[in-house]
Amino acid sequence: MSISQSIAVGSLVIAGLVICAAPPQPDSTDDVDGVFVDESLYRFPTRNVPRESSAKKTLVRGTVVLWRDALKKRGITSFEEFDKLVAIETTYGQLLPIVPDWRGRAFFQDEKLRDREVELVGYRRSDTSTFQVLMIFTFDKDGKRQYTDYWCDICSIPMYEIKPCDCCQADIRLRYQPQDLPDYITARMRTRIAVGDHMERVLATLELWGAKEWVFARYPVIVPTPGQTQADIDAAVEEFKKAREADPFLELPGYGLPNGLVIDVHSRERKLIGITKHILGEHGKADDRKETGYTSLTYNGEFILGRDKPARADD
Ligand SMILES: [Zn+2]
Repeated sequence: MSISQSIAVGSLVIAGLVICAAPPQPDSTDDVDGVFVDESLYRFPTRNVPRESSAKKTLVRGTVVLWRDALKKRGITSFEEFDKLVAIETTYGQLLPIVPDWRGRAFFQDEKLRDREVELVGYRRSDTSTFQVLMIFTFDKDGKRQYTDYWCDICSIPMYEIKPCDCCQADIRLRYQPQDLPDYITARMRTRIAVGDHMERVLATLELWGAKEWVFARYPVIVPTPGQTQADIDAAVEEFKKAREADPFLELPGYGLPNGLVIDVHSRERKLIGITKHILGEHGKADDRKETGYTSLTYNGEFILGRDKPARADD
């Protein structure tokens, strides 16, 4: 039997390595040739198995939350029909409902996986606006990335939902293993944003870099001027909303990068036209001083702002 055949009927491989019967195998509709490649099997030789799926595996960072809570935060009241749903709230505040399949189901069952920072590798489907989880990463107290699944200490088998062990029926536990993101994710990380890039790519790159919205840095405000009536203000708000509808990249918040750098990304007609660096004062708060005129941000293990033209100090 070739390796690819073994993996295709994965349970045989696992059964050969542990005493117990294998956990039920995930099924998939997305992978090449109908062969499902579970990343947790990558420690076994899988060289002959196509790893890349035609549906691209992507990384999403954020926090998994109960759908109703997330809606409530956005001022949407809903009834108990939505009780069971969970979604990942990305670092950009977008909500992606998680598909309760062999892997995503854990987020529905186990509150220990919710309301904490996670990175999920999986399929982000544009046609359904859902996220199908393949790998779960959490972070320990020092921020170290941990591949996260369930484990039976007695039988030494991994599982993907919380339930009595498939084999011995004992309790299983969440297992954390320090592990980097898979190569097919990191290889795809774009390491540079530059003037002229489409804002969708800019934001996707920031998300891959782990940028978070920086609330102190920038947010849209409408400041009434003397003599303005409420009607004038309402009209200004309406105008702003319309402009934002036409260009969703208008008035983005600032973004804080994992190294502490805080930037604004400026756009016109959905293209990046410049980057501003915030100079942080005491306690890491923006103190209104900025350096403008940056034209690129490169990541090569460290974040480096670049500019094609001379700096212009701005305060
Ligand atoms: Zn067991």
